[in-house]
Amino acid sequence: MLNNQGRPSRPDTAAASEAATFTGNKALQIEEGLLFEIGQREVTGIDLPEAPVAKSRLGNHGRKTEIGLPGLSEPETMRHYVRLSRQNHAIDLGLYPLGSCTMKHNPRLNERMARLPGFADIHPLQPASTVKGAVDLMADLSHWLLEMTGMETVALSPKAGAHGELCGMVAIRAAIEARGETRGSVLVPESAHGTNPATAALLGYKVIPVPARADGTVDPAAVKERLSSDVAAIMLTNPNTCGLFERDVVEIAEAVHAAGAFFYGDGANFNAIVGKVRPGDLGVDAMHINLHKTFSTPHGGGGPGAGPVVLSKALAPFAPLPFLRRGEGGPVLVETAEATQDGERPFGRLTAFHGQMGMYTRALAYMLSHGADGLKQASEDAVLNANYVRARLSDLFHAPYGDRPCMHEALFDDHSFEGTEITTLDFAKALIDEGYHPMTMYFPLVVHGAMLIEPTESESRASLDLFIAAMRDLMMRAKAGEVEHFRAAPRFAPRRRLDETRAARQPKLAWSEPAPAAAAE
Ligand SMILES: *Cc1c(COP(=O)(O)O)cnc(C)c1O
Repeated sequence: MLNNQGRPSRPDTAAASEAATFTGNKALQIEEGLLFEIGQREVTGIDLPEAPVAKSRLGNHGRKTEIGLPGLSEPETMRHYVRLSRQNHAIDLGLYPLGSCTMKHNPRLNERMARLPGFADIHPLQPASTVKGAVDLMADLSHWLLEMTGMETVALSPKAGAHGELCGMVAIRAAIEARGETRGSVLVPESAHGTNPATAALLGYKVIPVPARADGTVDPAAVKERLSSDVAAIMLTNPNTCGLFERDVVEIAEAVHAAGAFFYGDGANFNAIVGKVRPGDLGVDAMHINLHKTFSTPHGGGGPGAGPVVLSKALAPFAPLPFLRRGEGGPVLVETAEATQDGERPFGRLTAFHGQMGMYTRALAYMLSHGADGLKQASEDAVLNANYVRARLSDLFHAPYGDRPCMHEALFDDHSFEGTEITTLDFAKALIDEGYHPMTMYFPLVVHGAMLIEPTESESRASLDLFIAAMRDLMMRAKAGEVEHFRAAPRFAPRRRLDETRAARQPKLAWSEPAPAAAAE
């Protein structure tokens, strides 16, 4: 209801009056300010002894204004972070069907292992002789990764998948330069993750897109047409981001090698094929493994991750520093160019130190607790679960590449909403109200209004059935024309529809003092 000046005279939507509690809280869903808004300046939750007066050695550079840190009591601090943790979805709260990102359960055993002081409390500058156990663990992890991939060596230090792509592509460039050649372009299928063309472009390569066939896979003929003596590599994901296995991968690899180019395998979807097929046998020369996707590790919220890169015989000499050499008395950590031997030609160094020890520990704990048979079963269960979701939804949802089996993720598109006014975005927002994180939306880009669902092996039949029932219920509402239900969603989230584009384009990264509570009002 608007007054005669066009301003609302009272909350005029059901949602606004619903939200009107004195505190702004909705039962246990609590409004939480920033630390700087709820804390008191120059108050501290702990007692510190008065600092001894010492002569300042800072000269002119000493702080002249108050530092302005907020202070809270210990319970207030605890509550602040616990409340914030409840405002986001987590795999520990419920099914997290984000395709391509593989959000799987992280067994608590991994956390116990990663917190052992011998792994958690070491420093990268400690002499290698004092961290022998950690070096052995890195060597064991390398052994497992090489067994599973059928490759020659592994560069452990990259910190994520995208960083691993950079590592592998720099190794490829180094190998090409070592033969006295330069090559200027890289083939990237259109369904690729954005990090593939970004990596190639970052290294100055021209990106040549390879279109997908009608069935969603790469046509070897399309690759051959684009190969030339200028092509350094193809970057190919298998299974691809449509959740489909690239059947012609061997033919593609042979054509790429015949043209003197290399095959970079994007291993983000390795969790679908561990124990079933070794990328080395498919002709892959370099492949990153997102430890945080395939071998557990919590990675919601942006980190931390680890992206070790396995390398073929042709690329192995170029692995970056630091690396592990198999020595007679056990693994040797090679940290400098001076310590290299004949045949070792590291392209340089990607990270200051050795990579993410905590991730290595979690990944190895995951591997050892599953065993070779268990890892294979995890892949099979992940594929089975995705196909169960696909089959139980395929009468109501439209699959872009037809109603046929998928690998670890099920893909639908927005033909599903034909005849309704609902978009993929509306549908995803409604899923939030049902207590689910939305599936991956609008990716892969080759599929219009894509909805990519990856349940992983973590989910039981019962939890999949509930998710499927929620998806089906929402689709029935969409088809019944309940547009308002979708437009208003999410109604139960701490925040409603945000302007995500503006938040990304004009992020407010600095805290500023809130205006004094509008006294004038
Ligand atoms: C996640 C992903 C990447 C990037 O990995 P990060 O660890 O997020 O850097 C690359 N390719 C594909 C297909 C992915 O799913």
